[in-house]
Amino acid sequence: MFLKFIEIFIIICGSVFVLSAFMILRNLFRAFYIGQLRIEELSLSKKSFVYHLIEWCQNNISYDNTSKPDFTIKYYAHSKYAARYHPVSRKCIFYIYQGQKIREIVNNVIHEFVHARQHNEDNLQLYDKFNQEFGYEKNPYEVEARKVANKYEDDCLLWIYDRVLAK
Ligand SMILES: [Zn+2]
Repeated sequence: MFLKFIEIFIIICGSVFVLSAFMILRNLFRAFYIGQLRIEELSLSKKSFVYHLIEWCQNNISYDNTSKPDFTIKYYAHSKYAARYHPVSRKCIFYIYQGQKIREIVNNVIHEFVHARQHNEDNLQLYDKFNQEFGYEKNPYEVEARKVANKYEDDCLLWIYDRVLAK
């Protein structure tokens, strides 16, 4: 009786494990393919695409005091920046060009949103000091923005595809 119970328990655990592994792999593959889409392949405008991404950020990675940042889109590739956060106007600027993959845009939107979040938290007051001390790449504000963007880009891609693009 007890052995039978153990056997059933192991079968259930095994099934749950296999199913979870399958779901994780499936999401990884889906996010990979969705991320390969190019901006002009989408059925909605660049502006509305970014609007929805900012909404996702506001609902999923904001803090209580994070106000939703405004944004501007420039329709060309900048020689130096993929996107920027402008602290004076509290605006995110995105350089979106023909042929750009949407994974890159999603990553940029989350990255700049994190800068807006940092601005709400501590006013980004040490940004320039950190740049001088550590350099741009190791500036803790940049490290955090890159880390959060890389962590959440798959979740955001899956959400935008299922809830916005596929509708
Ligand atoms: Zn940055």
